Amino acid sequence: MAELMDGKLVSALVLDKLQARTELLKAQGVAPHLAVVLVGEDEASAIYVRNKQRACDRIGMDSTVIRMPGDTTQQILEDQVRELNADPSVHGILVQFPLPAPLQEGPILALIDPTKDVDGFHPANVGRLMNGLPAPVSCTPKGCMALLDHYNIPVSGKEAVVVGRSNTVGKPMAVLLMQANATVTICHSRTQNLADHCRRADILVAAIGKARFITVDMIKPGATVIDVGINRVDGKVVGDVDFAAAQSVAGAITPVPGGVGRMTVAMLLSNTLDAAERWIASSLCSSQ
Ligand code: NDP
Repeated sequence: MAELMDGKLVSALVLDKLQARTELLKAQGVAPHLAVVLVGEDEASAIYVRNKQRACDRIGMDSTVIRMPGDTTQQILEDQVRELNADPSVHGILVQFPLPAPLQEGPILALIDPTKDVDGFHPANVGRLMNGLPAPVSCTPKGCMALLDHYNIPVSGKEAVVVGRSNTVGKPMAVLLMQANATVTICHSRTQNLADHCRRADILVAAIGKARFITVDMIKPGATVIDVGINRVDGKVVGDVDFAAAQSVAGAITPVPGGVGRMTVAMLLSNTLDAAERWIASSLCSSQ
């Protein structure tokens, strides 16, 4: 039976450490502060934002949620982002996606001050990640790497297969695995013989958005399986992996819920604290 990679447990440990860092910053007179912009009434987005707010409360981090109506114009949303960019009390900015149509996400991502981009989606930060430079890293892949690390899963020299090539999950996940010296294959909807690729994986990451798409026959015995997917089936949340069957073959596996999702939130707070710490360091430098 596979070892359960428990995101609930690991994220709680991460949050404990973040709480200590938050207290330290507050003792230096800086209250780390995450601002989240939520546009429209998307139910799933509202739940994600609430979870982020709860996690902030849990570690004593300030959080502000700016709720904007679904008919907000691009101009008004961009003005809101500019206001947050200019607000010295805000260290991290997150605009919750997806945005309602016809709002465009690309210009919003590019507008967020890269030093406050706690999602790691700003083109400058993506470029830094690609170049191996320090940068805020996309929270979900960063959380997956933290799980691998916590469970001492060797990555260097291993075959890693990432199914999904989105800018937010698949691509940065592949880059992080490559930087950790895995040999990485990226699969997507045009990949031929997908199951063959998956079966080669020592580490298989599923970021597809299709319920139970990865079946047990696609998993190499003993492989580590990281399920990023969040799908709603008959009112239940399930991942991209057929968890019940995969458990009997995998060496380690993340559950859904209680796996990667929890880690994503913890990494968001970690990126916000990093931003607040960088802000202190740069203000000290400029005051000298
Ligand atoms: P996207 O829809 O942006 O990307 C999905 C990827 O899966 C695409 O690259 C697509 O390929 C690929 N894909 C789709 N169908 C197939 C197929 N039949 N065979 C192979 N590949 C396929 O999704 P995201 O990356 O944003 O999210 C993926 C999942 O992860 C979703 O369920 C989402 O809800 C969840 N998620 C969970 C998070 C968490 O914290 N746990 C955070 C973020 C996302 P192509 O590029 O060719 O279209």
